[in-house]
Amino acid sequence: MNFKEIIQEIYLKIKPIEDNGQLASYIPELANVNPENFGIHISTLDRVDFGIGNCYDKFSIQSIAKVLSLCLAYRIVGENLWERVGVEPSGTSFNSLVQLETDNGIPRNPFINAGAIVISDILISNLENPKEDFLAFVRSLSSNSELNYSRKIAASEKTVGFRNTALCNFIKSFGNIENDPSEVLDFYFDLCSLEMNCKELSALFLFLANDGKNIVDNNQILTKSQTKRINALMLTCGFYDESGDFAFKVGVPGKSGVGGGIVAVHPNQYSIAVWSPKLNEKGNSYKGMRFLEEFTTRSGLSIF
Ligand code: GLN
Repeated sequence: MNFKEIIQEIYLKIKPIEDNGQLASYIPELANVNPENFGIHISTLDRVDFGIGNCYDKFSIQSIAKVLSLCLAYRIVGENLWERVGVEPSGTSFNSLVQLETDNGIPRNPFINAGAIVISDILISNLENPKEDFLAFVRSLSSNSELNYSRKIAASEKTVGFRNTALCNFIKSFGNIENDPSEVLDFYFDLCSLEMNCKELSALFLFLANDGKNIVDNNQILTKSQTKRINALMLTCGFYDESGDFAFKVGVPGKSGVGGGIVAVHPNQYSIAVWSPKLNEKGNSYKGMRFLEEFTTRSGLSIF
C-alpha cells in the first residue's frame, strides 16, 4: 500500500476546498490558531512514518485526551469502571446535560464530557499525583518526555467552563463524583489542554492498532480484550452525535477534539492523525472528516 502517495494526493485535493467550519471560539485561546492549518501523519505497524502539511505543529488535542485518561483508568480499575460510566452512544452533543437526569448521573459513555469528568474523578481517587501521574503515563506511551499540558489553554477554558462545572456538580448530586468538583474540573481542563503534533499523536495511538502493546518498548498497555473495547467505544462514541456518520463514511475507530484534531486507528494496520482547526456543526474537524473519508476509500482499508 503506497500510503505516501495516497496521503499526498488527498491532501492536495482537500486543502483548497471551501471550509465553512468555525474555530472552537467558546474556549477563547482556541480561537488564536491559524484556521488554515492542515496537517496529517500516519504511523503503521510495519514502520511507515509519513506526514504532510502542518504535521509538526503542536495543537490542543482536547477531547482526544479522553481516550488516554480512559485507558489509564481501565488499566487501574478494570471492568468495575463500567459501573460508573456506560458504553452506549449518546446521540447528543459532547457537552450535553439532558440524559444525566433520567440516567441517574451515569454518563452514557466516557467520551462525552460528562463521562470524561467521571473518568477524571476515578483517576483522582486512584492516583497519588493525578496531573503528574497522568502526564507520565502519556509520556511513557509516546516515549516523549517533552509532551505537556498547555497552561494557557487550560487557564482559558477554566474562565468559561460553566457547562462542565454544571455537569460535574449535577453528577455529584447523584453520588457519581467522589472528589471535590473543583479538583475534578481542574484535572479535566488540564488533560484537555495536552498539546502535541500529528506525528506525536499518530505514534501515541499506535498501541491501539497493536493489541494494546507499545511498539517501541513492547510494554503491554492494555490487554487485547481491553484494547478491542476501547476501539469499539471509539467507533461507536468517538464523534458524539456524528459517530454513526464517521463509521458510515470512514469506517475505523477514531476520536476527535475541538482543537480540530482527529486520530483514527485501524487495528493491526495503522494510526493516523489529522489536524484542521475549523469545526463542523457537530464540533468535529470539517477537513479532518473529509480527509479520512477519502483516505479509507482510496486505501480500501476500513474495518468493514
Ligand atoms: N475541553 C473541551 C470541553 O470540555 C473538550 C470538548 C471536545 O474536544 N469535544 O468543552
